[in-house]
Amino acid sequence: MAHAKLSPSSSGRWLTCPASSLMEDGKPDSTSIYAAEGTAAHYLAEQSLSFGHTTPAERVGETILVFDNGDCCFEQDRKDWMPKDVFAKFEITQDMAAYVQVYIDLVDDLVSSTQGDLFVEERLSLTPLTGEEGAGGTADAVVLTSDEIIIADLKYGQGLKVDAEENTQLMIYGLAALEEYSLIGDFKRVRLIISQPRLHHVSEWTADIDTLNAFAKRVTNTAKLINSLDVTSDLTELFAPSVDACRYCKANTECKALAEHNIKLVSDDFSSLDDACAYTVSDAKYDSDTLAKIYGHIDLLKDWIKAVETGVYAKLINGESVGDLKLVEGRGGARKWANTIEAETMLKSMRLKVDEMYDKKIISPTAAEKLAKAGTLGDMQWEKLQALIVRPEGKPSIAPGSSPKPAINLNPVEDFDDITNV
Ligand code: SF4
Repeated sequence: MAHAKLSPSSSGRWLTCPASSLMEDGKPDSTSIYAAEGTAAHYLAEQSLSFGHTTPAERVGETILVFDNGDCCFEQDRKDWMPKDVFAKFEITQDMAAYVQVYIDLVDDLVSSTQGDLFVEERLSLTPLTGEEGAGGTADAVVLTSDEIIIADLKYGQGLKVDAEENTQLMIYGLAALEEYSLIGDFKRVRLIISQPRLHHVSEWTADIDTLNAFAKRVTNTAKLINSLDVTSDLTELFAPSVDACRYCKANTECKALAEHNIKLVSDDFSSLDDACAYTVSDAKYDSDTLAKIYGHIDLLKDWIKAVETGVYAKLINGESVGDLKLVEGRGGARKWANTIEAETMLKSMRLKVDEMYDKKIISPTAAEKLAKAGTLGDMQWEKLQALIVRPEGKPSIAPGSSPKPAINLNPVEDFDDITNV
C-alpha cells in the first residue's frame, strides 16, 4: 500500500479546505527533528508491544536510527541492505522509556480489560473511503473486541493537546478498520483513544456506527471532489482558511486565499488611519467587543506571519531572491570557552579559589524527582523533599469564554464588601 495523498493525518486540512490538496501538491514533505523523534518513540513502542520480551526501560542507552524514508532500527541491528542516509539518531533515555511505557500500559490495559485481539502498527486500506488506488494509513494500535473496535494513537509531541472527540484522523482509521474487519465481527461502535504521555494527556471518545457513516459520506464526497480537480480547476470556493487547516499546510507561505483572508480580517476590524482623523477621541478607540473580535483572530494572524517569515528565510537560505531582502549575520550567541579543559587549567594556574572558579546550583525539584524515580533517593526521602516544593501561581492568561477553566476573581474584596453591605 502506498502513502496516501489524502492522508488521515492531514484530513483535518483537506476536509476543511479541499483546495489545500492541489496547493500542497509537489511540495516535499519536510521532516522535522520533532517528527523524527516521534517516529523513534513509535518504533520503541512497537518493538515492545509486538515482541513483548523487551520493555523500553531495558533498552535505555541504546540508539534508534531514523532513516530519511521514515524507517527505523536499533543502531546495533543495522544491516547493509538498510538505507544509507540516517536522518536522525535518538538515544533511548530514562524519560523516553518512561513516556513510551505510559502508552504501552494503556494498550496493555485495553487488551486485558476487553480480552480483545491486538494489532500493532496496523496498515489499513483507505481506497474504499478516498478512492485513491493503493492508498493506506497505519493505525498505532487496533484492538478488536466482540462488538467494538478500539483505535489507540500515540502522540509523542509536547506541543498542543489533541482530543479524540471528532478527531478526523482517528475517525478515518476507525472507518478503515470497520471495512477491514467487517467479515469477522458485528461491531457496534469505535472507541478512539489518544495518548500524549509527555503532556500527561489521555483523551477518549466513542463514536456509534451512524455517526461514523455520516462522517464517511463527508470523506468520500470531499475526496471525490478533490480527485476531480486539476491545475486548471477554479478553486475559488474551495479555500477555507482557519487556524487548524492552515497551521501545517505546506502552502501557507504563498497561499493568496490565506493572505487575503487575513488582510480582510485586519481591515474589517482596524479602521484606516485616514478615517481615524475624522473621529472624536472616544470614537477613535475600540470598544471591548471589537477588541475581543480582534483577539479571536490572533492565532491565525500569528501563524501566518510565522509561515511567511519561515518561507522567506527558506528561499533566501536556498539562494533564491525575494525582492530586495537579504540574509545578514544575526546576533552572536552567549560567549563560551572554546576549550573548557584549557580554560579550567588556566584558571587553576591563576590560583583562583574553588568558589570563585565554579558555579554551584542546587538541583531543581524536577531533577530531584528523576533521582527518586531512578532509586537514588528513597521514597521517604522524596516525600520529605516534596513537602519543601512550592509552585508559584501562574500569571493570568487570556482564554476564550468556552474554556473549561474558571475565570479568576480579580475583585474578591469588592465582592466581600457587597456581602457586608447587604
Ligand atoms: S494555507 Fe490554508 S487556505 Fe491556503 S490552501 Fe492551505 S489550508 Fe487552504
